[in-house]
Amino acid sequence: MPSGRVHETINLCALGLGSAGYLAFKGSFDLEDSAALAFVASYCVGTFLITPDLDLAERNVRAKGRWGLLGWIWVPYGLMFSHRGLSHTWFIGPLTRLAYLFLLGGALLWAGDGLLRYWGASLELQGRISAPPGEILGAMTLGYYVSQWLHLIADGIWPDFPRRLRR
Ligand SMILES: [Zn+2]
Repeated sequence: MPSGRVHETINLCALGLGSAGYLAFKGSFDLEDSAALAFVASYCVGTFLITPDLDLAERNVRAKGRWGLLGWIWVPYGLMFSHRGLSHTWFIGPLTRLAYLFLLGGALLWAGDGLLRYWGASLELQGRISAPPGEILGAMTLGYYVSQWLHLIADGIWPDFPRRLRR
């Protein structure tokens, strides 16, 4: 199994090659720069911060360390998911980490807001949080997923459908 450092190196090399290709053939893509940036940002988050190996977060993994003092938030995730189980699947796996983070973030915001209201203040979140436009959201989703897929390929895990096609 490749180490966290190896995974990061593989992902960065792929990003370098992809970026070079993108810049070389930029004219033939109908893609906004902002979408390309969103892809890269999300890809980096998926490479350094939110990786499939967070299923080992009850121990010490590289991605958990990158969260610094907040690394502990992944410990329940590590306890919930066995290593290289559901967390290392192509479609549901990456989704489990996003869902986990959204639920946890939502719960923390809700609790924080409740506490502030108790003291007569409020975070006034309503209307402040909005989803990015479709193209950006699509690029972010793709960037995140591609980073996770490279990790899975490096781990030797392939999706089911090409296997079926090869038969
Ligand atoms: Zn892995």
